[in-house]
Amino acid sequence: MNEADFSGAAATAQATPILIAPQAVLRQKGRVVRPEDMAALREGLPGMFAAMYQAPGIGLAAPQIGISMRYAIVDLGEEDAREPIVLINPEIISESEVLHSREEGCLSLPNQYAEVVRPEAVRVRYTSLAGEQIERDVDGLLATCIQHEIDHLDGVLFVDHLSALRRNMILRRLAKEQKAKRG
Ligand SMILES: [Zn+2]
Repeated sequence: MNEADFSGAAATAQATPILIAPQAVLRQKGRVVRPEDMAALREGLPGMFAAMYQAPGIGLAAPQIGISMRYAIVDLGEEDAREPIVLINPEIISESEVLHSREEGCLSLPNQYAEVVRPEAVRVRYTSLAGEQIERDVDGLLATCIQHEIDHLDGVLFVDHLSALRRNMILRRLAKEQKAKRG
């Protein structure tokens, strides 16, 4: 199966639960994906895509579903024109000096949004599902999304790019909302 098959399989898969901050695994550095991890990784992908599409979100990293490994999925496409990407062991190999501020949210910090400043364009290297080494220049929303997902693989959340004051405000608000939700 390739990327498109997995996102298609998401239509009938049960969505994998997404962990909410402050779950400890969200703060851990994920380990490198090895060839022997690929079977389990593939098996988990339909549920992972289902979780992202149902949320709905445009990116989801393995630590967000409790797997402390370096892979993530991204899809900026529309519901009737999916553009699924699976990024295995992704790394940013260069970034533009030009910065861009964009509002970000995160499925592990539901309902919380803030402007985050990041490089506007990056060159990313990753392994595809087929095992190919891919290098790609990305910019705009895709660049933001990929940087956000790679942060997750290092235990970093978008609020870490904000001032401590702003970060604590958001994390406190999230905790309060989650507590209210649990009743
Ligand atoms: Zn996120």
